[in-house]
Amino acid sequence: MILNCVETTKRVVAFTFDDGPDVNYTPQILDLFREIGGKATFFMIGNQVKANPELARRALAEGHEIGNHTNTHPNLTDLSPDEVIRELSIAAQNIKEVTGIEVRTFRPPYFGYNETVHSIVTDKFGYPAIGAMNMNATDWSNPGVEHIVEHSVDHLSAGSILIFHDGWGDRSQTVEAVRQLIHMAADRGYQMVTVSELLQLAACEV
Ligand SMILES: [Zn+2]
Repeated sequence: MILNCVETTKRVVAFTFDDGPDVNYTPQILDLFREIGGKATFFMIGNQVKANPELARRALAEGHEIGNHTNTHPNLTDLSPDEVIRELSIAAQNIKEVTGIEVRTFRPPYFGYNETVHSIVTDKFGYPAIGAMNMNATDWSNPGVEHIVEHSVDHLSAGSILIFHDGWGDRSQTVEAVRQLIHMAADRGYQMVTVSELLQLAACEV
């Protein structure tokens, strides 16, 4: 039900960042991707977009994708169907108000996901639910730059989706790990694309 990668032989990889936009760390991540000429996907929290609208607009202006990560970051499996719908639609509405765009992809907070949430996400909103290959990198727990790199570098492979966080607390380890990883990706000939670009590519090859 959750997509961690797509089948492709092309050297493309999707870096994703959850929980922003954050006034300290989102600009640093955006600067890194601008320097390397890559694109990323930011699964933003609706409330955070309202708080930092200029960062959401900057991400979009620089060619990145914004995805839905709910409005207040609850575990959706704890909510009623109506509350799930509200979380997703208010987030989408906040992002639209700030940026003018309709979000097309979704990542569940805490990967809290079940059949009920899945049917709302796909049937009502039409979002693919996006996972990641490097779940055990756990950058959010500040395990050290080396740990984040080690548990992500093996997944620098064709069609991989990688997860990091640009929001909540001190994300300086993430910034340094991502700096190293995107240079490794570029050295190995990988193009860094958005999740929607990755999905389109797979669809074309089916
Ligand atoms: Zn999150």
